[in-house]
Amino acid sequence: MVGESDQGGLLVGLEIHQQLACSTKLFCDCPPIKSEVLPYHFERRLRPAQSETGGVDPAAVFEFSKGKSNKYFWSPESSCLVEADEEPPHPLSSEGLDSALLVGKTLESNVVDEVHVMRKIVIDGSNTGGFQRTAVVGLGGSFDVGGEKVGVQSVTLEEDAARILGEDSTSRHFALDRLGVPLVEVALDPVRGDPELVGKVALYLGRVLRSTGKVARGLGTIRQDLNVSLSGGKVVEVKGVQKLNLLPRVVEYERARQSALVTVAARLKERGVKAVSCGITDVTEAAHNLGSRILRERASEGGKVVAVTARGLKGLLGWEPVPGFRLGKEVAEVARANSLGGIIHSDEFEHQGIPQQEEVLLRTLTGAGEDDAIVLLAGLSEQVDACAPRVVERLRVAVAGVPAETRAATDAGETRYMRPRPGSQRMYPETDIPNIGVTKRTLANLDKIVPQNWEAHVSKLAETYGLSEDIALKLYDSEMDGEFEALAGELKLEPSVVASTLVDLPIRLAREGVPEAALGLGMLSEVLRAVAHGEIAKEAIPDVLKAVGAGNRDVEIAIRSLGLERADESKIRAVIESVLLRNAGLVREKGDAAFAQLMGEAMKELRGRADGAAVARNLKAKLSQAGRPSK
Ligand SMILES: [Zn+2]
Repeated sequence: MVGESDQGGLLVGLEIHQQLACSTKLFCDCPPIKSEVLPYHFERRLRPAQSETGGVDPAAVFEFSKGKSNKYFWSPESSCLVEADEEPPHPLSSEGLDSALLVGKTLESNVVDEVHVMRKIVIDGSNTGGFQRTAVVGLGGSFDVGGEKVGVQSVTLEEDAARILGEDSTSRHFALDRLGVPLVEVALDPVRGDPELVGKVALYLGRVLRSTGKVARGLGTIRQDLNVSLSGGKVVEVKGVQKLNLLPRVVEYERARQSALVTVAARLKERGVKAVSCGITDVTEAAHNLGSRILRERASEGGKVVAVTARGLKGLLGWEPVPGFRLGKEVAEVARANSLGGIIHSDEFEHQGIPQQEEVLLRTLTGAGEDDAIVLLAGLSEQVDACAPRVVERLRVAVAGVPAETRAATDAGETRYMRPRPGSQRMYPETDIPNIGVTKRTLANLDKIVPQNWEAHVSKLAETYGLSEDIALKLYDSEMDGEFEALAGELKLEPSVVASTLVDLPIRLAREGVPEAALGLGMLSEVLRAVAHGEIAKEAIPDVLKAVGAGNRDVEIAIRSLGLERADESKIRAVIESVLLRNAGLVREKGDAAFAQLMGEAMKELRGRADGAAVARNLKAKLSQAGRPSK
């Protein structure tokens, strides 16, 4: 099967964007905070500007042709005139620069001796000025993932874009709070497109970045982009993979999608089609009488219906060389990215309510031959006019297999067409910011704080506290290692109890429906302190947190509500006495062998209030006393 074969190796280049933990934005003094309330807004329309070399970027033209304006919502607590592009940028934040340089050093990158801030054209509206400021701080470098050496291409300091809020029919909406927040971008050399390896590399790099102590924590602070290509094929850029665990799925999806497209191209070659020639015919008049309700409606609403013909493509739009992947789906995505609802193509005419005789009519009107495909586009006149050439372009490149394009990752781990790949004339110098020299002294100071390799750090954590490597890594990944060391030092508790309470227990209890508010670091440390001070037994920790989650305000109240005040030795002995009394017959019959059952009964009464070891010790002593006379 052609479709099953691996069409040359898949290569994946990762680009990680990690927010830096800085007190201000990169080019102004606004704090990098999220504003819940955005009381002000203004509106802009951006035009694709010519770059200094005179070219116009295809991606920019594409976004502009959608014809939408941009509305920016902002709050003075998180934005100023710099974000609005009404005031020149302030000097580059030295905190941001030092953090990015440290990341470069940690990745063994060759740090530049002069930082040049550049403007990168961005025309999707996410930057008020139509460009993003970016500066390379390091080139080259490498790290080792499970014996595999991964090369670093570049380490770049850049400002984040505005936060997307949504869009309506006339404008896109953005929040300015995120605009200008410092990010470090690490671009890696391509690695084998083995989904598992790609996931591992990203996880590893995330850990390296965190080891610097200079990166922001929490959800939404890291974003992965991928450059995916089959060897020798065009590069597809996949943007915005938010969750690490989606990376392998995205790689798998692109592998399947790209190999389907290569298979379609091979079939075209077999048919002797060297170039797909296309035509565009206005069929609005004919659409009034077609069987498809949607086409009739578009035509009668004063819209437009055009037929795009593609020579030699009949049967290949609806074909699934790899399950779930069709060229027709790709063309529909292009139409959707151009504001149309979708397409109807000739491989699915009958299914879409267009019978044979109407297909014959359409073929006559458009001059399409027996072997040609027809793609119908319907919508507002200007939308159809803007979309038709894009669809033609997409059909033409079917002979080449995979087109170079920018795609967006979805939450399901799939990818969707966004726009053509940007051209090469995307960068020009930012003249408002002078170049910044990186002094020997700066570098020497950075050398002093380059972090220990994170794997060594985790091993040391495990060794120092007698933890398993597994739980030490969980502490590191959940960014609880610092808190763990502080608590383990402060409280006289087994370190493994502290560690599992911090990292394992919250996950288990969250699964059982305990609200997150009860599982924060504050509550966890409070409950650990209660154990350390002898107020409760460690066995009671889960019940106390559940009680906190069920509405008790704090740990102390929860302990009281559960009647969990710790049982002292005399209470333990009293409970054991009553258990032995109730089971006198059993004790006589089985002697020491009755231990397990008696222990179970005693713990039912003392659960959470006494240490299991203390109960067992008392019970064993009592049992051997009880057993003696019968001997
Ligand atoms: Zn500002």
